[in-house]
Amino acid sequence: MNGTGILKGLGVTLKHFIQTYVDDIRYGGRKYLGMENFEVRQGLKAQGAFTVQYPDEKIAVPERFRFVPFLVVNEDDHPDAPGKDWCTSCGICAKVCPPQCIWIVRSEDPVTKRPVPEPEAFFIDIDICMNCGYCAEFCPFDAIKMDHDYELADFDRTGTHIHDKPKLSKPYEYYYNIAPTTAAEEAQARGGWEHPDVIKAKKKSGEPVMEQPWFMLRAEDPEARARAEAERAAKAAAAAESTVSEADIAAERQARRAEALARHRAWAAKKN
Ligand code: SF4
Ligand code: SF4
Repeated sequence: MNGTGILKGLGVTLKHFIQTYVDDIRYGGRKYLGMENFEVRQGLKAQGAFTVQYPDEKIAVPERFRFVPFLVVNEDDHPDAPGKDWCTSCGICAKVCPPQCIWIVRSEDPVTKRPVPEPEAFFIDIDICMNCGYCAEFCPFDAIKMDHDYELADFDRTGTHIHDKPKLSKPYEYYYNIAPTTAAEEAQARGGWEHPDVIKAKKKSGEPVMEQPWFMLRAEDPEARARAEAERAAKAAAAAESTVSEADIAAERQARRAEALARHRAWAAKKN
C-alpha cells in the first residue's frame, strides 16, 4: 500500500522520541552523573537519543579507534634501556604508507659510520596522514601505534602538524593504557613484554624475560629497578673479569657456523 514506508519510518522516529524520555525517567536525575551512566547511554544498549555535550563531555573511544600514529619508547626509568625507541628505522612503515607522509632518518655510528638500528629523526605529516593504520599493522617491531588523541586542531598547522620524534614518542605504558587487549595479544605473540630484539637476545642468553610490562613491575615492586641494575652491574663485572678474549669468542662463533654449514650440506646431500 502506498505510504506504508513513510508510516514505518515515522513509527521508528516516534519510538526513539518516546524512548528518550522513558530512559530519562529511568535514570532520574542521574543520567549525566558518573562516567558509567554516560557511557551506557552512549553505548549500543542505549535507548532513545542522547546528546553528548562535546567538548564539555567526551565519550571513551573504542580500543581499536585510530587517529594519527605515535612511536612506542621504553619508559624513562626502564632498567635495561631507559627511553629507548622500539623503532629500528627499518623503513617498512614509510614504504607501505599510502600517502607517503612518513620520513625517517636512520642513525649511524659517528665513528664507524655503520647504520645503527634506531631513528635519528622521524617525521609524520599529520595533515597528509589518512589514519589508515597500515604503518602500525606492518611494523615488525610493534613500534608504531595508532593514537586515541584526536584533539589536534590548531590555527598554525605549518608549525605543529609535522610531528617529529619527540612529539611522536610515547612510553609503552601509554600504549598499554589505551589498548590493553591488543597490547596483551601482541606481547603473547612476541613471547614477552619487551622489544622483540630484547626478547630474542634474552632467550638466547638464557636470561628471563619480563613477566609483566615494566611499569607494572615497578608499581608492584619499587625495588625492582635497583635489583635489575645491581644484576646488570654484577654481570658486567663478571664479563670484565672473564679471561675469554674477543678472538676466542670470534673463533667459537666461526666454529659454530662451520658446524651448521656442514649439517646443512649433509641434509641437502641426503635430500638429493
Ligand atoms: S616504526 Fe616500525 S616499520 Fe617503521 S621504521 Fe620503525 S620499526 Fe620499521
Ligand atoms: S596511518 Fe596510514 S597514512 Fe597515516 S602514517 Fe600510517 S600508513 Fe601513513
